[in-house]
Amino acid sequence: MNCFYHSDKPAIGLCKHCQRGLCTECAAVIDDVLVCKHRHEDDVHKQEQLTARNLFQSKRVASGYMRNAIFYSLVGVVFTGFGLWQFKWLGLQAVVFIMLGGFLLYAAGANYFEGRKHK
Ligand SMILES: [Zn+2]
Ligand SMILES: [Zn+2]
Repeated sequence: MNCFYHSDKPAIGLCKHCQRGLCTECAAVIDDVLVCKHRHEDDVHKQEQLTARNLFQSKRVASGYMRNAIFYSLVGVVFTGFGLWQFKWLGLQAVVFIMLGGFLLYAAGANYFEGRKHK
């Protein structure tokens, strides 16, 4: 295969943006990928940055869910424990705490599974 811009020169690779063959004169390296010099340098650079940012964001989302899961489960355990402990004295009021604790534990589980999805 020859260079798209110089049909007499052999191509050393393909532009990541337009898939055209490039010779040493036409090829530029942006973010470790081959692109058309002065033509698609910016396009590919922006695309690579976007991909990197997306990866970074999904990791942050996942750790956010995990933090929520830990927080909810801790508070959930405290509420449930408090409700069970006070049940003898508070009766029905303690049930509210137990239910709240159960709900928090459920939220913790939901966050945990949601966080795993983003990994
Ligand atoms: Zn190109
Ligand atoms: Zn060329």
